[in-house]
Amino acid sequence: MGKTPQEVKSHVSKYFPWCPFCCFEDLEVDVEPERRLNYILCSNCGAKWEMNIQEKIKSVKLVSTGILWKGRELLEKEMEPKFWQNKAWLCILTRKTPEKAG
Ligand SMILES: [Zn+2]
Repeated sequence: MGKTPQEVKSHVSKYFPWCPFCCFEDLEVDVEPERRLNYILCSNCGAKWEMNIQEKIKSVKLVSTGILWKGRELLEKEMEPKFWQNKAWLCILTRKTPEKAG
């Protein structure tokens, strides 16, 4: 895990290459190297995650669901980053047409 925000973002993007719910590729990653809790936001579907980072990502918790309540069963659950990485790939493999908010 790096020290600069860019290095942290690069680490995060390995697990969140795109949104696990809507496949949107331009996620907002709000990180500060010295901060323990950091955030990922999908501006397409509105989903938001809270990451617990200590040296590396310890856990990732969904704190807001996106449109259509996708992922509501995962709200407030601490998951391993790998879980979301797998879900992101599943999104790409199973998508039909990209969903757009609004
Ligand atoms: Zn999304």
